[in-house]
Amino acid sequence: MDFKEKFDECDARFEAIFNLTSAASKIINSDLKILKVNEALTDLLGYSRDEIVGTEIMEYACDEDKPHWQALQKAMWEDGKPDFKLDACLGKKDGSLAWVHVTTVRFEDDGVAYAYTVLDDFTDWKSLQESEQRLSMALKYSKMAVFELNLADRSMSRYDGFDQVLGLTDSDENWSQERLIQHLLPEDQDMLRKALTDIEPGQSFDFQGRVKTPDGVIKWLNFQGRAEKVNGNQARLLGTMYDITRDKLIERQKDDFISIASHELKTPLTALKGSLQVLDRSKQTFEPKLAALVDQAGKSMMKVNSLVDDLLNASRLGEDQLHLRRTRFNISKAIDECCLHVTAGGVYNIIVEGQKDIEVDADSERIQRVIVNFVNNAVKYAPKSKDIKIQIAKEGTHVKISVTDEGPGIAKDKLSYLFDRHYRTDTGGGQYSGLGLGLYISSEIIKRHGGQIGVESELEKGSTFWFTLPLS
Ligand code: ADP
Repeated sequence: MDFKEKFDECDARFEAIFNLTSAASKIINSDLKILKVNEALTDLLGYSRDEIVGTEIMEYACDEDKPHWQALQKAMWEDGKPDFKLDACLGKKDGSLAWVHVTTVRFEDDGVAYAYTVLDDFTDWKSLQESEQRLSMALKYSKMAVFELNLADRSMSRYDGFDQVLGLTDSDENWSQERLIQHLLPEDQDMLRKALTDIEPGQSFDFQGRVKTPDGVIKWLNFQGRAEKVNGNQARLLGTMYDITRDKLIERQKDDFISIASHELKTPLTALKGSLQVLDRSKQTFEPKLAALVDQAGKSMMKVNSLVDDLLNASRLGEDQLHLRRTRFNISKAIDECCLHVTAGGVYNIIVEGQKDIEVDADSERIQRVIVNFVNNAVKYAPKSKDIKIQIAKEGTHVKISVTDEGPGIAKDKLSYLFDRHYRTDTGGGQYSGLGLGLYISSEIIKRHGGQIGVESELEKGSTFWFTLPLS
C-alpha cells in the first residue's frame, strides 16, 4: 500500500468516526466558516446541515461567552496556539439554550489550515446543577435544614444550614442520631428517640421538639421527613428541620387569649343558665309563644355553653392541665346517663349493644364527654340517621366503645385529620356550627387514659367513631 492509499484509508476512518460519533463535531477554516458538521451537531442545535454550513459558530454563541471565545480563536489562528478549550452556551433553533464543553484543535491539510471542534453537551448536568442551586437557595431563605439518617447504623449527614439552626459553629463531621437527640431538652429526648427508632421505610416522620442552643436559647424545631429503602436492605430517613419558635409563640398568645376569654365568659353564662332554668320551671304558666321562646333560649344556651366548654378544655390541654379524676364505673350506665338529652326529644334512638357489665377505672366525666361528642356529632352531621348504635366490646386488655351512624360518611383523604385541632371538613356548605375542637379534645382525653381513638367511614354509608380504654 503506498502512502496515498494509506492516507485515503485514514481519511475514510476519520470521516466514519466524524459522522458516527455522538459528540457534536464540526470542521472550520481559518475564516471561521463552518465547512462540515456531523449529525450530532445538527441534532444538538436543531438546524439542518445546510442551515449551519457556511455560518460561524459565534452566530449561535450566547453574548456573555463571545469575547472569551473570540480571544481564544485569535490566539489559535494568529498566535499559533495549537488548540483551546472553553465552556459556553449556544442558542438552539427552538430558542432554548445548550451548554457545551468546546475543544478546538488546529490541523493542516495540503498546506491549508483548518480546525476540528468537538462540542460536548452538558445541558442536563447544568440544569441539574441549577435546580440543586435553586433548592439550596430556597432552603437557605426558608431557613430550612436538611439531614439524612442512616437507619442501619444511625449515622447522620447534615446539609444546608443544619448547624446554624442548632446554633452550632464548630461541629465536626461525625454525627449520629444520638448526637442530635442530646441537643434536645431532656423532657423531649425520649419522644424523639422513640420516633426515630420506630420509623420504617415508607413511613412519614413528623416531630416537634425543643432544643437548647450553646448560647442558652431555647428553640422549637419541626422535623419532617420520610423513610425509604436504598440499595436492597439499607434504609434511610431524609428529612428537614426548621425553627418554629415564632409560630409556637403566636400559638401560645392565641391560647392565652382563648383561655382568658373563655374563663371570663363562663361566669355570666352560668348566671344566664340559672335564670333560664328558673324560667323553664315556670313555663307552664306562660302563654305558648313565650314558652316556645324559653325552650329556644334554653337550646341556644346549651350550644353556647358547649362551645365555651370546648374552648376552655382546649386551652387547658394546651397548658397540659388535664388532670384525670379516676373512679371505677360501668361503661353502659355512663352511656345511658350522658345520652339522655339525645333520646329525650323522641327523634333519635340510641341502641347500646355488647357487654354491658364492663367496668373501667377512668375519669367518668371526661369519658362521658367523649361519648357525648361522638353522639352529638352523629346527630349534627348525620341528622337523617335516626338510629345511633353504640357498641361495647372487650378486645384483649381493652374495652372498645364504637358509635355508629348511617349518615353521609367522611371522605377517606380527610379521615386522618379529623382529630387535629380546629380541623373541620367542608361538607354541608357551612351549615353546621362548630370549632373543630370536639374530636381533638376527645383524642387528648383518650390518649391520657392510655387508650386509642379512631374512625372508620365510607361516603354515603355512615361513620363509626371509636375509642379504647385499658381494662384494669
Ligand atoms: P366540630 O363539630 O366543632 O366541627 P369536631 O372535632 O367534633 O368539631 O368534628 C370535626 C369534623 O369531623 C366536623 O367538622 C365534621 O366535618 C366531621 N365529623 C365528625 N363527626 C362526624 C359524623 N358522625 N359524620 C360526618 N362527619 C363528622
